[in-house]
Amino acid sequence: MRQYNEECGVFGVYGNSDTDVSLITYHGLYALQHRGQESCGIVVCRDRSFYMHVDMGLVGEVFTKSVIASLGVGNMAVGHVCYGANGSNTRQNAQPLVFKHLKGNLALAHNGNLTNAKELRQRLELSGAVFHTTSDTELIGYIIIQERLRSTSIEEAVTRAMASFEGAYSLVIMSPQKLIAVRDPHGFRPLCFGKTPDGRYVIASESCALDAVGARLEREVDPGEVIVFSPEGVNYIRTHCSEAQPSLCIFEYIYFARPDSVIDKVHVHEARKKAGALLAIEHPVQADVVIGVPDSGIDAAIGYSHQSGIRYDIGLIKNKYIGRSFIVPQQSERESIIKLKLNVVADAVAGKRVVLVDDSIVRGTTMKQLIGMLREAGATEVHVRVSAPPFLNPCFYGTDIDSRRELIAYHATVPEIAQIIGADSLGYLELNHVRYIARGNSPTAGYCTACFSGNYPT
Ligand code: AMP
Repeated sequence: MRQYNEECGVFGVYGNSDTDVSLITYHGLYALQHRGQESCGIVVCRDRSFYMHVDMGLVGEVFTKSVIASLGVGNMAVGHVCYGANGSNTRQNAQPLVFKHLKGNLALAHNGNLTNAKELRQRLELSGAVFHTTSDTELIGYIIIQERLRSTSIEEAVTRAMASFEGAYSLVIMSPQKLIAVRDPHGFRPLCFGKTPDGRYVIASESCALDAVGARLEREVDPGEVIVFSPEGVNYIRTHCSEAQPSLCIFEYIYFARPDSVIDKVHVHEARKKAGALLAIEHPVQADVVIGVPDSGIDAAIGYSHQSGIRYDIGLIKNKYIGRSFIVPQQSERESIIKLKLNVVADAVAGKRVVLVDDSIVRGTTMKQLIGMLREAGATEVHVRVSAPPFLNPCFYGTDIDSRRELIAYHATVPEIAQIIGADSLGYLELNHVRYIARGNSPTAGYCTACFSGNYPT
């Protein structure tokens, strides 16, 4: 429930003739809004020229009918939704970024964080580079453009530039003739592509955005892969594939992605239900009802209910209309916000022993408040089950929880946390089991679990 600086969503569409790509991208970004609510932008390519609109705000606020109309038709477009990523949440850092260089225009949308951004920036600045933003994305664009000068094509430049980047980057790049999807060799953040019935290619952070624009999912962009959509057709460049151990962020399945998305052939909803079922096996309890914290705790609560046989009910309702522009109350800000965002369905919990399922506890603020609200509504016991292991380590790959100080599990043991939040019992998903939620068979399948395990892939 609490809003941390999340990550971003990227989108791109390519075709050989002009159509309403601005509207298609708008619809795609709307489906990716959960990945970032701070800023958004669209760049359209028409007759090799770029038309852009980027601003702070939600997709529905920034892109009015007249803005979409002013962007007009085109044969390609790239879009982005953002919660700040690396660099601060300013208009300057809003994406896509557009670069004008010796060989033309380049538009760039990025999800992820580079782990060597500081060194790259320093090296480039010492050689005379001047940057307009504090974002990793500008560094990525700058390096690609440098490589472009000694390459015969934009895709060759991108492939060369990848050798300089470390960390997480799922990119959609647009040149006057080509749309390019790029995923870092670890594949930290998701990226997939598909095709519409009229033959247009669509690239998106999550498959739910393909669904929104009527495109059929073809597959994931593989870790390290560069896919080029151009008048010559589709070109798959695999120079950087198999360079690193695949390390998709497991938290995509647990929290970030939409439950109706499919990542790496695994339905996010199924993965969450599996996490709930595992929790029920690991941490059984005598109770009357299982409820989930909307939105991301619901699927795991259903899984817990199915496995345990304890009835599932809707115990909390989320006000869907509280967004970025909501005016927050002044005193004890955080707690009041939770009360306004979530309310208890008293009838579902009064006089009952409740299992309360959420996907994660970060600071503990949400849980503490919710348990108080459930007890006020008459719950006799509240047993908290968390469909992820304790959050112990910061993330450097784009989830922006980058300090241990914020994490309650770093300071307190599980029984201590239970006491702090006021739960009758508390159970987290076993670290050894977290990999099973996305792939039943292999415990060594390629996931990044650093936020729980401390094993950083880079
Ligand atoms: P807290 O109140 O600080 O313990 O935050 C816990 C809530 O934050 C849970 O309901 C999670 O669904 C949510 N959450 C966890 N990780 C993130 C994240 N990276 N961005 C936004 N919300 C998150």
